Amino acid sequence: MKGEIQKWNGTKVIVLGIGRSGQAAAEWLLGQKAEVTMFDETKSAEAKSLAQKWEKRGVRVLLGKDRMEAVNFDQAILSPGIDPKRPVVRQLVDAGVPILGELELGSQACLCPIVAVTGTNGKSTTTELIASVFSTAGKKAVGCGNLGRPLCEVAPLTGGLDWVVVEVSSFQLETVVTFRPKVAVYLNLTPDHLDRYPSVEKYAEAKARIFLNQKAEDFAVVQKGLEVETGKATVASFTSDADGADYTIRDGWLCRGEERLMRQEETSLRGPHNAENMLAAWAVAEFEKISREAVKEAFRNYRALPHRCELVRVLGGVNWVNDSKATNLDAMERAVAGTEGSVILIAGGKDKGFDFSESRKRLAGKVRGALLIGEMAEKIEKAWNGVVPCRRVQDLEEAVERAAKMAVFGETVLLSPGCSSYDMFKNFEERGEKYRQCVTALPEEKKRNE
Ligand code: ADP
Repeated sequence: MKGEIQKWNGTKVIVLGIGRSGQAAAEWLLGQKAEVTMFDETKSAEAKSLAQKWEKRGVRVLLGKDRMEAVNFDQAILSPGIDPKRPVVRQLVDAGVPILGELELGSQACLCPIVAVTGTNGKSTTTELIASVFSTAGKKAVGCGNLGRPLCEVAPLTGGLDWVVVEVSSFQLETVVTFRPKVAVYLNLTPDHLDRYPSVEKYAEAKARIFLNQKAEDFAVVQKGLEVETGKATVASFTSDADGADYTIRDGWLCRGEERLMRQEETSLRGPHNAENMLAAWAVAEFEKISREAVKEAFRNYRALPHRCELVRVLGGVNWVNDSKATNLDAMERAVAGTEGSVILIAGGKDKGFDFSESRKRLAGKVRGALLIGEMAEKIEKAWNGVVPCRRVQDLEEAVERAAKMAVFGETVLLSPGCSSYDMFKNFEERGEKYRQCVTALPEEKKRNE
């Protein structure tokens, strides 16, 4: 819901980061007649061409670490990709410049109630599920945030909306002040981003800020068993693996307490993790008094986003699944657990400090072989020694080639790296697309176990 509105007219604002969020913030601030400066550490060709574009609009742009000037700003706006501990941000803080995140700015500008979705995994899927449930029920709703458009970009449209559903990361929550979602969904918490946080506790602390400003009339949806201070809102819980939550899954049914709502099989979303995403979305729908029929219809029609346990091809009875978005251990383990039959797993990528030996038990007996790529290949091989037969390969092409030879009828070849992609690819999308290309290029005769 609309927070306290800050007046921006004539305010000297520096926007940190010239990516999509920074640009959305700058655009909104220009509309408010603020005096905008943009800063980015990079001097890449892309940054330079963006700088030219913004300079034409009367924005001062500073590119390069040495260009930062910590003086003479009333306010700084931080893009989520920039760690507040970076020297440029410290420099501003030390000069007494207050810092706000792009999410906070967007929420202040927002004219309709907000559903915010956070968690280590499942944010994009759940955000989209909720937005599509709302739309199916005839409500005007838009999904945004990490998954696409930044909130600042959507905020000017919110006067005509019933709801905005925003995916929020821990990074964005670090810098909220008045951000008050009417509905806050906290999906799960498993170790991730330990390159940015000193401990899991600090990461958890950042995520819990989603509840910071909620009031008694607001609503919180939380996975059962998560130790988190939800604040004043009414709470509903969900889980896929224990009893006693408000929303559960039993014998393949999504349930509200004892009552069966719908079979998961009716949807195209597979695995207990996706059941959890749907249960959380169902809780939000009930808070908004949306009919069960509308929820069912939305879930039946929902198609998984690309790169999230996405079935790319069935070739000779082998399922080829692209889960490139699995950039941490939990997502990888969930993808394996949600797969029927045995798995040939393609894993590895950039080292984010995960201990892959933690996955040994969950993969044992299920993963028949692993093909390992990237910076982490050697470490993973050591960590899984004796449990999963591993082979290190040069690249994704070789992984797909070898997997095609290994996989037998009824098995799944699963790209679920458990690591981010930046050692070999631009991002998880590029990695997933490369996999799709390689799999699509496999000739029909590869279907046989050679
Ligand atoms: P996020 O936006 O949080 O990264 P996505 O919906 O894009 O979440 O999914 C990211 C990865 O996490 C995918 O590999 C997906 O299969 C997996 N995943 C989705 N939902 C969950 C969940 N509730 N728990 C664990 N893993 C999940």
